[in-house]
Order: sequence, then structure tokens, then C-alpha cells
Amino acid sequence: MQQSYITYADNKKRCTKCHIKSDVENFSTDSTKSDGLRCQCKFCENLHGRIHYIDNKKKVSKVRKKYYKLHKYDIAKKSESNHDLNRPEYNRYMREYMRKYRQKKGAVNDKK
Ligand SMILES: [Zn+2]
Repeated sequence: MQQSYITYADNKKRCTKCHIKSDVENFSTDSTKSDGLRCQCKFCENLHGRIHYIDNKKKVSKVRKKYYKLHKYDIAKKSESNHDLNRPEYNRYMREYMRKYRQKKGAVNDKK
């Protein structure tokens, strides 16, 4: 059984994606996993969803695009309250990640 990425010493688990160690409650449960938790923290799951969205931006319908723009702040607010966490280290990580991702993608048009 390989669980080298898991540290439960203080009830915290290290995310395999962002490598940030956070409370196990920040991980979704997954009964198929040996430790009953997902490898990625909830934040990364959320982030992955966003990246997936950007990746498929051109494929998604205009309606959905419009909806997203209209509700962008609602969505962000909602996910924040869902996680009930305001971790600077995560925010920093996410910002960096998204920035790099956008640079890599280049073509993503996200004007301010
Ligand atoms: Zn993570």
C-alpha cells in the first residue's frame, strides 16, 4: 500500500496536486480510495473545474459563456463559502497556476 503522500500526523493530508497540506476535511470523501479521501483537495477540484472550463471555452455554447460571465462573482462567492476557507497560500497558488496556465494557453482571451 503506497500512501507516501498522505500525512495524518495532525489530521492533515497532502494534496497530490498542489502539494499543500491541509485538514482532511478539505478533501472530498471517496470510498474507493484506501484512506477514504480523494487525492486532490477540494480547492484543486474546484481549480480543475475552472481549467476545464477555460480549456473548453471555445467549445461551450455562447449561452453558457454568457451565463458564466453574469454569474461569475456569484460562483466565486459560492465556492468560497462552500469551502469556508480563506487560505492565502492557496489563493496565491491558484493565482499563479491560473496565470501560468493562461500564458501557456496564450490564446485565452480574458480581458479585464
Ligand atoms: Zn490541492
